[in-house]
Amino acid sequence: MQSWPTLYVPQLANPNALPPLQLTATVGAGSLSDHNSIRMYVCGITPYDATHLGHAATYLTFDLVHRYLRAQGKEVTFVENVTDIDDPLFERANRDSQDWKELGQSQIELFKSDMVALHVLPPDSYVAVTEVIELVISAIVQLNQKGFCYQVDGDTYFDISSFESRLPISHDEALKIFAERGGDPARPGKRHALDPLLWSKNKNGEPGWESPMGFGRPGWHIECSVIALRYLLGPDFLTEQNATDFSIDLQGGGSDLVFPHHFMSGAQAEALVGRPFARLYVHSGMVGLDGEKMSKSKGNLVFVSKLLQQGEDAMVIRYALLDSHYASDRMWTVDLLESAANSVALIRQALAKEEVAPTNAVIQAIADSLANNLDSPRALHETIDWANRTLAGETGGHAGELSRALDALLGLAL
Ligand code: ZN
Repeated sequence: MQSWPTLYVPQLANPNALPPLQLTATVGAGSLSDHNSIRMYVCGITPYDATHLGHAATYLTFDLVHRYLRAQGKEVTFVENVTDIDDPLFERANRDSQDWKELGQSQIELFKSDMVALHVLPPDSYVAVTEVIELVISAIVQLNQKGFCYQVDGDTYFDISSFESRLPISHDEALKIFAERGGDPARPGKRHALDPLLWSKNKNGEPGWESPMGFGRPGWHIECSVIALRYLLGPDFLTEQNATDFSIDLQGGGSDLVFPHHFMSGAQAEALVGRPFARLYVHSGMVGLDGEKMSKSKGNLVFVSKLLQQGEDAMVIRYALLDSHYASDRMWTVDLLESAANSVALIRQALAKEEVAPTNAVIQAIADSLANNLDSPRALHETIDWANRTLAGETGGHAGELSRALDALLGLAL
């Protein structure tokens, strides 16, 4: 699938001044900056209800990672998927008497235009599940040959038992969350309650494909195992021996994907190629609205496209989201947008001055803040401090250099 258009990223005057990027991972440890080429995979949207602020916060988080590594001169390969085969998409299409493909396509286009507006750098490969069905089928056949599969009444399951000791949460908690997020722990005939579906037999009228497992469609997690391996390791990933310790460097997504999605897709990828999937798993927090959880069931989702239609500046939306730390759950309020608008106006006013306060130190402070587990609020605070000093009459800096650093590292083209 066509990714969105690439964006101009200015070069930094002194990329050597960027310290190694340290991220606090949910699973795994170490700095991404230790390697020269980085393979990163971020779980994409199911194309309905796109793009709410929770989505935006997630993609901005990994955009900061992407931008930082590129500014360091790393070779980054970034892959993102689109879950265009999924129960919620079919339910929404049915509810609205709409063709699921048309609904998906329109939401994907909306998502792409939101990403362009928010200055999110595009993935190198943007891949929909419907584009890789044959590959998913080959992968499941291979998992079956390796003894990881079994069937229950025509549905094919992945046997999770050899990975269960590595659950990121307690077994009881896993059972509860599994049931809440599309799993079926109580189904009779399953070997283990947490075994996920790899291939589901066709249900009334839903899209399906012929396969050795019967006519049906892929389960949720296998798509990401296959897309990540195929587009980050190459077309021969199922047969090629690879000497690296891990298949990829970074698996990213929202914190609601820690379990079951990332645990399951990582386990399936490991079962396929025989080595651990991702060196680091990093997750962004959830975004709530006015003190409540933001969710489709509450009907209180705030959409990027709506804010843009209302005339909000995309850079102000970006600023407002970066003004909270990526890892923490946060609340969205109208005040946040207003305060971000004031901050952006202040920085623009300072950048437009002929003489500005010294810029080397603030650029270094922005880099140091981001290197420290993407402390974007700190980076913005330092920028505001510089703007205030500039407006108070301090001189000796180069506005252009700071402007380029804000664009390159924070994606703020001001
Ligand atoms: Zn995924």
